[in-house]
Amino acid sequence: MSLKQTAKNAIATGWDTFGRLNTTPKLTIIYYHAVTADAAEAFDAQMAYLRRTANIVPADHQGLLDPARPNVAVTFDDAFRSVRENALAALQRHRIPATIFVPTGWLGRRPGWQMETTGDAAEVVMTGEELAALPRDVVSFGSHTVDHPHLTKLAEAALDDQVRRSREVLETLLGAPIDTLAFPYGDHNDRVVERAQAAGYRQVYTVQPQPIRAGDRSIKRGRTSADPRDPPRIFAMKTRGAFDWMPMASRLKSALKGRS
Ligand SMILES: [Zn+2]
Repeated sequence: MSLKQTAKNAIATGWDTFGRLNTTPKLTIIYYHAVTADAAEAFDAQMAYLRRTANIVPADHQGLLDPARPNVAVTFDDAFRSVRENALAALQRHRIPATIFVPTGWLGRRPGWQMETTGDAAEVVMTGEELAALPRDVVSFGSHTVDHPHLTKLAEAALDDQVRRSREVLETLLGAPIDTLAFPYGDHNDRVVERAQAAGYRQVYTVQPQPIRAGDRSIKRGRTSADPRDPPRIFAMKTRGAFDWMPMASRLKSALKGRS
């Protein structure tokens, strides 16, 4: 483990201890990418842990939260086939609702975008048929754009096309309304959020940890990165929002940089 990761985990441990004193219920949304065959067992153990200890809700949940337990939602970015092959059984066994965010320009292909996680280059995005055949009592869908670009780098017409067309493709394919979007790389700014809202999205998801309060109506929702290989203690802390301090730390860091 890198020194940086060790330091992050140490801060999270402190935050976790302190956080247990705060009884305001909050929702933590976690996100995964691939679940490889050799990680299937570890993923199953994480879902079993969630079922045992947490109140599990869909990512777009806006209602009441459980004050006595962690409230957790599970999401997957990129719609990799390995999720169907190695994670779906665990989701079904433990009755965990999950949202899969789909880059519609890559259906049935190896991801050709700049990878977020090393190792994912060997993955394949599910085909339209595979997505449509997933059990809807467990899986719901959101957009992850068409091409998986950095949205902040696009001019308005291209940005509109990425968020609108992916939504249309998914709605036609799945016969269900699509009104959530996960930003590729979490890359967004106010303009991107505004264009997503104009395209009909009710909620958009980032990759910055964020405690979400009961009744939250804001369009933007933060998420915490999870991996089947997370050690049980770290995964447990993630579900309790122990990494929620991270966006604050990066804001502080850029503020300090700006001063020098
Ligand atoms: Zn992605």
